[in-house]
Amino acid sequence: MPEYKNILIAVDFSNACKQVIQKGINTGKLNQAAIYLIHVVEHLPPIDFGYEPMSNPDWYDNEAELLSQAKKKMDALASEHNIPAANTQVIAGSPKHEIIEYTVQNNIDLLVIGSHGRHGLQRLLGSTAYPILHNAPCDVLAVRIKNQPA
Ligand code: AMP
Repeated sequence: MPEYKNILIAVDFSNACKQVIQKGINTGKLNQAAIYLIHVVEHLPPIDFGYEPMSNPDWYDNEAELLSQAKKKMDALASEHNIPAANTQVIAGSPKHEIIEYTVQNNIDLLVIGSHGRHGLQRLLGSTAYPILHNAPCDVLAVRIKNQPA
């Protein structure tokens, strides 16, 4: 009997994320579940901390450009895996907060993440994976990343 109805895959577009997507999609097929994809464009503060606090006028333009690029990648990924556009989310913010928020708002019952993504292999779990495992309101599948290029 299917265990999960709504599966969210958190995609960081690193090379490692292919393993995460494949595992999430396979688990979705086994459960006949709907698949959702999220990517969060990380907020960078509009301040240059290098010298004096000062406003960076390019910041908002840069964020809009990053969002636009991320949306294109997400559209391509969704169409490659036959996932409806309505089941995808690209948003700016803090990855751990936005992923948990989406999970709560969309009745997600399984969240699929990589043990590590773009933030490296220094620890057993990456800096996004760790707080998600602590705070998610549902089951979390942390896919063990093998031979991960950055
Ligand atoms: P990290 O802990 O940052 O090394 O990443 C671990 C996992 O968290 C990744 O494999 C993704 O599943 C997820 N993740 C990290 N950053 C993002 C992001 N910006 N958007 C969506 N998912 C992310």
